[in-house]
Amino acid sequence: MATAIVTGGAKGIGKAIVKQLARIGINVMINYNTSQKEAQELKKELMQEGLKIQTYKADVSNRTEAKALVETTKKEFGDIDILINNAGIDEWKMFCDITDKDWDGIIKNNLTSVFYMTQETLKYMVPKKKGCIINISSIWGITGASCEVAYSVTKAGIDALTKSLAKELGPSGIRINSVAPGAIMTDMNKNLTKEEKEEINKQIPLGKFGEPEDIAKCVKWLVEDTYTTGQIISPNGGWVI
Ligand code: NAP
Repeated sequence: MATAIVTGGAKGIGKAIVKQLARIGINVMINYNTSQKEAQELKKELMQEGLKIQTYKADVSNRTEAKALVETTKKEFGDIDILINNAGIDEWKMFCDITDKDWDGIIKNNLTSVFYMTQETLKYMVPKKKGCIINISSIWGITGASCEVAYSVTKAGIDALTKSLAKELGPSGIRINSVAPGAIMTDMNKNLTKEEKEEINKQIPLGKFGEPEDIAKCVKWLVEDTYTTGQIISPNGGWVI
């Protein structure tokens, strides 16, 4: 049975990914940082369905904690086949207001975390010449977003990592892809007003925000696929074409 780590798996898009993967028989390590209660509840729900689930608290922007997450998963489940780098934060600020601390913080949280988690996991994937890595980026990494410059930079960085690493890892039989969501209904968008949401809906050809499950279905497809690597796949309702 395959094993997956989902970073930031206790809520939002990560939670939907955990459910999709667990329900196709994959053992899942749910990583959380602050959402301990949500992680325990999700574990309980899925274990009641007879599925194999563990949780582990780690701030994946910290090398030591990322390493411990990977090593604990290997110890608990015996192997690691799939890594979903989902953890991320957003920050809305005018470019000139971004402080050095803001900049370093979001780069470390969103991009360096992917570097740490991917390196630590590859220690186990490369020797067996098999593995699947999926990075959750964003449409803003493709198009850029006003007042979200730092966030957009992290997501464009993730996509560049995906493309470069796909070339490097292909000969080792490891696939790596990005899933770049459009606007999805999660806590990340909880501060948008009703009017702002309506304005965004008007810009999206399918006329609505996506649900976390829309992204999870795409991730599941990539996990089951065998020939796609180095791609940026963007479920976004047609917002970016
Ligand atoms: P969310 O509900 O706010 O979830 C964010 C998740 O990231 C939480 O589970 C959080 O864990 C985790 N996280 C953040 N920093 C972490 C760290 N240092 N270590 C471990 N976990 C960390 O938002 P979401 O919308 O589901 O976001 C998931 C991903 O989708 C993010 O990468 C985001 O950039 C991307 N995305 C979202 C949208 C959207 O419209 N929602 C669009 C494009 C891309 P804890 O709660 O345990 O701290």
